Amino acid sequence: MQDRKGSSGKGSTESISGTGSGSVNGSVSGNGSGSGNGAASPTLTTVAVSGSPSALAAKWVPPAPLDSARAFGYLQQLCKIGSRTTGTAGMITQQKLLQDHFEKLGGKVVWQSFTHKHPLNNGPVEVKNMIVQWRPELKERVLLCSHYDTRPLPDRDPKNPKGLFVGANDGGSSTALLMELGHAMPNLKVNVGVDFVFFDAEELVYTAPNGTSLGDFFIGSTYFAQRLVDEPSDRVYRSGILMDMIGDKDLQIYWEEVGFQNAPTVAREVWEIAKQLGIKEFVPKVVHSVRDDHLPLIQIARIPVIDIIDFDYPTVASRTRSYWHTMADTPDKCSGDSITKVATVVMEWLKRQPK
Ligand SMILES: [Zn+2]
Repeated sequence: MQDRKGSSGKGSTESISGTGSGSVNGSVSGNGSGSGNGAASPTLTTVAVSGSPSALAAKWVPPAPLDSARAFGYLQQLCKIGSRTTGTAGMITQQKLLQDHFEKLGGKVVWQSFTHKHPLNNGPVEVKNMIVQWRPELKERVLLCSHYDTRPLPDRDPKNPKGLFVGANDGGSSTALLMELGHAMPNLKVNVGVDFVFFDAEELVYTAPNGTSLGDFFIGSTYFAQRLVDEPSDRVYRSGILMDMIGDKDLQIYWEEVGFQNAPTVAREVWEIAKQLGIKEFVPKVVHSVRDDHLPLIQIARIPVIDIIDFDYPTVASRTRSYWHTMADTPDKCSGDSITKVATVVMEWLKRQPK
């Protein structure tokens, strides 16, 4: 995503108004168990912490088949590739890995490719959105999205802004989440079709010597949204959820303002589900307004989409450290539990989609 806004986003020039909201049907049902039966409920188990017999900590156990260790393994696997910037060898390696992963699980993989002008040399660069369809025959669908490209450079790194950026949280964590959620999809009872969309070129952006940005944000998601407008089909996206930076060990997810304004029903459903499941990392309060891939989906394609994002990375309280857009955005700052907590909420939201 592009940049951060202060709390409550008052006076934000990035707020956009009144599109798409209200078109989402369905509301959160009162019981915590949901209507689906594809997976067990998550549990919080109280266990003794070794070394301090009196201390107790709640251990998170995600519902089967979700698995925190496996999710974290996917994150490590992605980061091991190195940089996964649009058009690079690392991105191609990642694309092969993801295609193989989702086809093995039974997803239908569709590519959306086009060329764009590279911001540094104006030469052509190939941009490829990847779409994984579950139950492709259904006309009524929902979107689950993540960007899967990584920023070319760790521009904000205090020591080495031209070093290697592997984007563990930024690009990696939400991609790993969808890889993990893929395990649940074949047996999940969902009333609508589901598309996982991996947007390319979310931030094919460099910092110019004068400090301004070189390049455009949201290239892949803008193309995806424009295609929906230009090529109408009988397949309709009812609503969607974008995920970005959801792997932080110290996770807090607030309502993001643009999504909350434009997809209030989805926002309320998701945070209500988290509450019912006891996943306290979801805090029902608008804190940040973030420019991210949900903007083109809302503004161009008129789909109500929220952004599940932890924009306090690492945390407001630890400003002395900075992981965002630095070389320090590595897997050790992330946790498999954070990834599966978000995946659990999203999975439950899918199960509760009305017909
Ligand atoms: Zn970023």
